[in-house]
Amino acid sequence: METHRPITDSRWTECLRLIENNLTQQQFQTWFAPIRSAHFEEEQRELTLCIPSPFVHEYIEAHFVKLLRTVLVRVYGNGIKLKYEVTTDATNGITVDFEATTPSTVSTQPIRTYAVNQAPEPLQQLDSQLKPEYTFENFVEGAANKLPLTVGKAIAQNPKQSTFNPLFIYGGSGVGKTHLVNAIGLRLKELHPEKRVLYVSAHLFQVQFVNAKLQNKINDFISFYQSIDVLIIDDVQEFAGLEKTQLAFFHIFNHLHQNGRQLILTSDRPPVALQGMEDRLLTRFKWGLLAELEHPDVQLRRDILSFKVRRDGLQFSTPVINFIAEHVDKSIRDLEGVVNSLMVYSLVHNCEIDVEVAERVISRTIGMTTPRAVLTIEQILEHTCHFFHLDRSDVLSQSRKASVVLGRQVAMYLAQKHTTLSTTKIGIAIGRRNHATVVHSCQSISQRIDADADFRSRVKELEELLKA
Ligand code: ADP
Ligand code: MG
Repeated sequence: METHRPITDSRWTECLRLIENNLTQQQFQTWFAPIRSAHFEEEQRELTLCIPSPFVHEYIEAHFVKLLRTVLVRVYGNGIKLKYEVTTDATNGITVDFEATTPSTVSTQPIRTYAVNQAPEPLQQLDSQLKPEYTFENFVEGAANKLPLTVGKAIAQNPKQSTFNPLFIYGGSGVGKTHLVNAIGLRLKELHPEKRVLYVSAHLFQVQFVNAKLQNKINDFISFYQSIDVLIIDDVQEFAGLEKTQLAFFHIFNHLHQNGRQLILTSDRPPVALQGMEDRLLTRFKWGLLAELEHPDVQLRRDILSFKVRRDGLQFSTPVINFIAEHVDKSIRDLEGVVNSLMVYSLVHNCEIDVEVAERVISRTIGMTTPRAVLTIEQILEHTCHFFHLDRSDVLSQSRKASVVLGRQVAMYLAQKHTTLSTTKIGIAIGRRNHATVVHSCQSISQRIDADADFRSRVKELEELLKA
């Protein structure tokens, strides 16, 4: 029995900080904040945590022991011993050494000293390798990502009951696969901190596998992966043609799947299009849920832009946002690139960002397609009038007749897409209109293209004629 304790070891404060980063505020407040003090005995390398009740200890042991162990090894180094002491109400100043005062319960109570040696599995198992900024909060929802996003959130809530196993997310480059699977992993860790979540790219998995093979440690490699609760492998198309890596992954996959652990995979194409992949793996990829992350439509591109512009404290006018959203249509990564370039441009040139500036920066950042440089506005006008059976003079006039307006807008849209002319110049060339009218026209045509399949294929047909 003691009445006095040395002050809390400063390294324990560092441990608490790491623990706090890995838990929700509520978990941390409930289970770690009540730890009254911690003192470290150098010679024995023994850390004693003073806790208010045995229940706290049991709960920590049951739910956070791996986290605790990892953090202790990281901060204090290997081979430290951990001891818990239950301290009574601080008001009477009595501290009870649990082991010393209740020896008979030592064998039945879980409170005792145990050695924190080298964690049984490698340390990195608890470092999930997740990117902290790729959260659900930073992921803008839209029609193109609704299904994978909804399923991802469901899995993060309830990984045990997931019938979506594996969750196989596929989609083109820059559509948000890596971001989404990271967000699932982060939410999972937040809600289920006891789960071992690991994010790994297929490429890194393969490198680790080759290294393990060279060092004769294949068994360690496989058993490490088999100990994961939620395994996220990004870009599995990279396994193509790598038979041995595929075999190792096959064993891991089976083990995890049989034991109800969650697998989340991404690929740049659906399983049917994966060449050089073993059939038995492809079959397994289809066991759970295949969800496509589609190319973002113009609305989602606009929403993402607005979100990023707001987050970065920038000020882009609505026409500028619309202009970018309409012209940068392949990947969200490109959208981000354009926002960054515009930000730099406006700083360097100390200017407001208007549509003209945006256009210049876009053509430099993501390049213009070749046809854009080749076609002239005259060719576009000629083909468009012919295609819609309109008179060129009507299109250039002030006529508000619906068929004429449509032809005029399509011509503007195509000029925007396939020439290097600014919207101002396009406006002048097509009936002396101002650039805002051109921007509006392009916007309404691209919305209609997104929404109306019939219209989309007609415009496509016209574009083919133009390129011929
Ligand atoms: P992929 O893995 O499919 O190639 P990423 O996940 O790397 O694509 O996404 C590219 C960039 O776009 C990332 O910076 C990501 O944050 C961003 N991004 C993708 N989808 C969204 C979205 N829905 N909302 C916000 N940002 C997104
Ligand atoms: Mg990716």
